[in-house]
Amino acid sequence: MASIEIDKVGKVYAGGVHAVTDVSISIADGEFIVLVGPSGCGKSTLLRMVAGLETISSGSVSIGDRIVNRVEPADRDIAMVFQNYALYPHMSVYDNLAYGLKNRGAPKAEIDARVAEAARMLQLEPYLDRKPKALSGGQRQRVAMGRAIVRKPAAFLFDEPLSNLDAKLRVSMRGEIKQLQRRLRTTSIYVTHDQLEAMTLADRLVVLNAGRIEQIGTPLEVYHNP
Ligand code: ADP
Ligand code: ADP
Repeated sequence: MASIEIDKVGKVYAGGVHAVTDVSISIADGEFIVLVGPSGCGKSTLLRMVAGLETISSGSVSIGDRIVNRVEPADRDIAMVFQNYALYPHMSVYDNLAYGLKNRGAPKAEIDARVAEAARMLQLEPYLDRKPKALSGGQRQRVAMGRAIVRKPAAFLFDEPLSNLDAKLRVSMRGEIKQLQRRLRTTSIYVTHDQLEAMTLADRLVVLNAGRIEQIGTPLEVYHNP
């Protein structure tokens, strides 16, 4: 777990698009921040800068006591969950969950224990031998979350993780993410354009508009002062 400090961050894309301008957010250890705002307001760009998938044009981002601007994405100790799952199609659920830990040379007993814990939390125990194509959309999204959880990262970054699911499944997965959040208390940044998702999950909401922070506060503060 770690705090995240986003300090006067800006992004100008080649060609001159100012995607993010002067954004500062202090995220406490264990806090769940939701980024909301209309399409094109800069949510994804901001998240990707924290992840190290996009260079930062100005300002700085720290995770814990490390300034990460110059840290390789692989060394940032964050895990991302995407809407398109990014699972390995030819591997079983178990192998999808275990892959990253195996690559890092974790001992077999530790891998088994972490995979079992994640599978239990996400109700994936009956499916560990299946390939992703034999899973439902919701189950696939649980495997994607499981891959993030087994890493025990300092922070989770969610990029519209539920937007490919049908409405009913979105509601139930929203509840599951809320439960995981209560259990794990991992510092999180969650991007969505779904207001209910934002209100349900956020400790604090950050409303972006044209690349700048328009409002920041608890869901009650934000939605009672529109
Ligand atoms: P959101 O996630 O809120 O929809 P984005 O961060 O994707 O917003 O985009 C913010 C702005 O930056 C938009 O105007 C978008 O067109 C622009 N943008 C995003 N990615 C690129 C890119 N790779 N090159 C140039 N402009 C981009
Ligand atoms: P896996 O792709 O299964 O996680 P690795 O952990 O070996 O396997 O991935 C290589 C590097 O890519 C890791 O060191 C890690 O920092 C980064 N990485 C892997 N998965 C994620 C993720 N979900 N979010 C962010 N970074 C990741």
